[in-house]
Formats: sequence, C-alpha cells, structure tokens
Amino acid sequence: MCGIVGYVGSRSVSECLLEGLHRLEYRGYDSAGIAVISDGEISVRKKAGRVMELARLVEEQPLFGNIGIGHTRWATHGETTDANSHPHLGGNGEVVIVHNGVIENHDSLRNQLIALGYVFHSQTDTEVAAHLMAHHLSEQLKLNSDEPCVDTCLRAVNLTLDRLKGTYGICVMFRDCPDTIIAARSGSPLVIGVGKNEYFLASDSSPLIGCTQDVVYLADNEVVVLNATGMKIAHRTTGRVQPSIQTLDQVSADIDLGNYPHYMLKEIFEQPTSVENAMRGRLDEGEATAVIGGLNLTAQQLRTFDRVVLTACGTSWHAGLVGEYLLEEFARLPTEVEYASELRYRNPPISDRTLVFSITQSGETADTLAAMRECQRKGHPTLSICNVVGSTIAREADGGIYLHAGPEIGVASTKAFTSQVTVLSLLALYLGRMRHLSYPAGKRIIKQLREMPEKIEEALKCHERVQEISEKYAHFNNFLYLGRLYNFPVALEGALKLKEISYIHAEGYPAAEMKHGPIALVDEQTPSVFIVPKGGIQPKVISNMEEVKARRGPVIALACEGDKEVERIADDVIIVPDVEEYLQPLVCAIPLQLLSYHIALLRGCNVDRPRNLAKSVTVE
Ligand code: GLU
Repeated sequence: MCGIVGYVGSRSVSECLLEGLHRLEYRGYDSAGIAVISDGEISVRKKAGRVMELARLVEEQPLFGNIGIGHTRWATHGETTDANSHPHLGGNGEVVIVHNGVIENHDSLRNQLIALGYVFHSQTDTEVAAHLMAHHLSEQLKLNSDEPCVDTCLRAVNLTLDRLKGTYGICVMFRDCPDTIIAARSGSPLVIGVGKNEYFLASDSSPLIGCTQDVVYLADNEVVVLNATGMKIAHRTTGRVQPSIQTLDQVSADIDLGNYPHYMLKEIFEQPTSVENAMRGRLDEGEATAVIGGLNLTAQQLRTFDRVVLTACGTSWHAGLVGEYLLEEFARLPTEVEYASELRYRNPPISDRTLVFSITQSGETADTLAAMRECQRKGHPTLSICNVVGSTIAREADGGIYLHAGPEIGVASTKAFTSQVTVLSLLALYLGRMRHLSYPAGKRIIKQLREMPEKIEEALKCHERVQEISEKYAHFNNFLYLGRLYNFPVALEGALKLKEISYIHAEGYPAAEMKHGPIALVDEQTPSVFIVPKGGIQPKVISNMEEVKARRGPVIALACEGDKEVERIADDVIIVPDVEEYLQPLVCAIPLQLLSYHIALLRGCNVDRPRNLAKSVTVE
C-alpha cells in the first residue's frame, strides 16, 4: 500500500514523478504529492484525491528541477486531506520525506517533538519522522559543522530510523544537500532503477518500465544514498553493501490498458494466457509429473514432509483453500490454510516435517511476510508462491514458484487467483507423484491441465450473458455465494469480488452450511449465486438450491450446458465448461469475476480503484 517514487538525474522531475505515481496509483489513491528541490528550496505540491488531480495542480503551479520524491497514499493515520498528504516537511522546511508504512511509536515521539517546539501540520504518523529528521540534523550540525554534507544528513537519517518502531519505506531530501536523495526500508518495499547518470526509486518496478532495465532491490535495514552520479548502499548494522543489479524483463505493454476500459477486465481476459504461462515448461509428460525447479529441496527432502501449511491473505487465502483440497486429494498430505495475519502472532505447533508455503501476488503483503519470517525464525523451510519477481517474499523465501502472470494492476485480484490455483495443482501433482499418484493418474492430470487455457477461453464466452444478468441483479444489496468442495473457496472468492468492487454485502458459504444460519437471510431481496457444475455431489447442491427457491430467494446458477434440473430451478443460468472437479475453480471463477465487474460498473463504482482498498497490502 502506498506508492513511493524518487528521481535524480537530468530529466524534468515533475513529469517523471507524476508518471511514476500514475503507475503506482493502484497501491493507494487517497492522496498524492511531490516535492522537488530547485534553487536551494524544497517545494511541495500535494492534494487529497487521485494522481490526476495532483497533475492538474502541478500544471497550474509547475515545479521545475531534476531531483524530487513523490507519494500516492493509502491512509493509515489521519484522514484523506490535503494536509495529511505526503510529502511532509520537517522542522522549518529543511527536510522533506515520503513514507510507506506505519510508525507505531508516533504518539510518544510526537509528544517529545512538541515539547522541543516542533509544530505539526498533519495527523499522520509520518510527520513525526520528518520532524525527527530535522531535529537530528540540527543536533548533528551543532556537533559537526554549519553546512550539512551528505554524511551529516545520513547520520540524521540513521539516528531517526533508530528511534522508529514499525515499518517504513522512506525517501528523504534535505534542502541544504540539494543533489541527494536518501532512502531506506524496513518492512516496506523499495526498488532502485539504475540509469546512465540518473537513478529512480519506486515501491515496485512498474514506474521503472521503459526508463531502465537495471534494478536493485533494497533489502530491509538497508539505506541508499543517491545522486545523479552514483549510489551507495549500506546495511544499517553491517555496513557497506555491494549492490546486486538485476534485469527487469517487463515491457510497457504489460502495464498498458490496451483496448480495455479497465485493468480488471483486461486481466480477466488475460487468464487463458496467464494460466498457460503458469504451466509453461512445468509439465513432464514422460515422467507424468510437474517440473518445479525453484523449491530448492530434493525429492528425498520433499518426501520427508508429512504436512503442509499454506499461509496467505485475501484472494490468495482462497487459492490456498483450493490448494488444501488439491494437496490432500493428490498427495494425501494433511494441509492447513492459515490467515497470515493470525499465523504471525499465533504459535501453532508446526513440526519439523511441515512444509510452509506463503502465497502472495505482490510478494510484499506485510502479514504474509511477517508470517513467513516467523516460520523461518523457527527453522521451518518456507517457500513462496508469488507473482512479482524480485519481491521481498520471493527473495526471502527458501525457494518458491513464480506465477508468471504478468503485472496485476486491478486492485481486485483476478488472474493471480487462477494462476495460484494452477500452480497449486502443479504442486499437488508433483508431490502426489512422489507419493500416491500412479503414472496413469499423473498422465491424466497433465492432459486435463493442458486443456485449461482453452477451457478458460470457453468460460469467457459467458461475458455477454453475465452482462445481461448483472443488469437484473445490480440493485440488490445482499448476496449469498454457495458452492461445495472445490467450489466452496470459489464461492468465498466470488463474494469477496462483489464486496470489494461493488460495495455490496456478500457472503460465501459451503452450500450445505447455509441451513445452519445464512438461510435466515434468504428472501426475495437476497439473490444466491450457486456454483453447481457437474460432479459427485451436485444433487446435494441442487437440493440446497431448492431450499433457497422454496423461500423465494432469487437464484443465479453456474452450471454446465444442458443441465435441465439446474435450468428448471434457477432464475438465471450461466454456462461454465465441463471440467474435472478439481479444475472447476479455474473456470467457475471467471463468471464470478465478470459478474462483480459488471455489477460494479452498473452501480457507478470505480472497479480499478475501489474505495478504501489498495493493491499490495504493505501495512499490518
Ligand atoms: N502511515 C502513513 C500515512 O497514513 C503512510 C501510509 C502509506 O503507507 O500510504 O500517511
């Protein structure tokens, strides 16, 4: 959450920062701001609202220069006002900072700073760090010299960071050191783009695409000092770090909307390809298994595990639930799915023979990262299933599997979900083939997996039908989503999508659980979405549909073509391709994504920027 950018070089800094903020806006859109140093002065432009509004302000009141920092906010402390927008000035304007994260001890630090005479202009935790920088700078100047040089500023930054509790990705500029940006991270991501006599800073690589391919991922507790001619990175306790420059392989098309009106729709339609990419090079027909190179564990080591823990948040947690069913069915490995936000503070018994996977699209989710670190601290090998290459979780995990889904920019996750499910199917096949799955069974699974891109293409054909249905149902304010077995997590995910982007109350339940409570919600005003494709217990789900109809609840059903019984009961049917039960989440998720998309549009919601949310939840 929250996007940070920085630039030093010879480009026009305002344009560069604004473009970067546009690309990072999916991380937070409560407010945006930039600060530029020019002619020995720090100037700030900031505004509540979208980056577009900041751009308008900058057009009216331009800022010229070649060095600056910017921020797009997802508010944690303080309302979404102009004053609370970043950047924040410290002291009398001698320091300016942008910050991603939460400073937990902001209250006591604020009181100390007020006692020292500092005047606060915002309610944010961040302003505390800005004044603290100014305070330490003035202390250092008293001790050392009248003119701040880079070393003095760096000391002020380090002394400040020593006193912060919580998380930060932070960029700082000092008025009297006008060619330098100092940045640091602890818990919130920062990437440095290395150009020719220019450097970029960003919360993730999207602003760097098209500017440079050379990037350095800053690690926790590292501080970087940048000017147009060089960068120096140091670890705050162990000293100088030799930067490891990596190559970015994304291209601008990955982050362009193309002909789509919204990223969410683009990403929904990318799923035949993203699922194919998740499988590319990972299916071994000869051995009837999956090839998963990055786990960094030998087959012998993998065989010693007798339990799996999958930890994740949000949509990734739903993918984890599908993973539980897959791993238990194919590999007979007892699997538990833990909310990362709970696991990080719980102390569940995890034996030496438990394999932990953290599942995350961004690879930066604060809770998932913390849960992973907690498991690693206890000595468990912890692997990741992650989309963003080079992200913190991908780097810190002991091994892992990339999704290769390409950037997901729509705040509501779509293609990441189906790619996660695909990767978990591969994992179940791989671990299964080491245990209980026979060669013919492996062959069969491979064949079915190979057909999935085509099946997803087929599932997307429901688009127009879903659009029609959405018009009929967009005015309802409560929905139930019901499915069983592999389609129970899909019900949860469908309900989450609707909540996220349409602001409609929706609950996902295992269909049979409905009669233990949620059925009380059923009336003419509460539609139920049943996920009821062919499969072993379909008749049971059909009975649940009857129960809803008996109470006059409107029913939308996701069913296979020609299913007369479903057609008879449901008010509206959306056709999904007929696939094996364990693969149904991959096709059933599609109409539910489209349903939430169209209902959101009809209700006038901003589907790519839903209120109160942001992509990549880097705060706790
Ligand atoms: N805690 C800071 C604020 O509320 C930063 C939030 C963010 O990461 O966007 O302003």
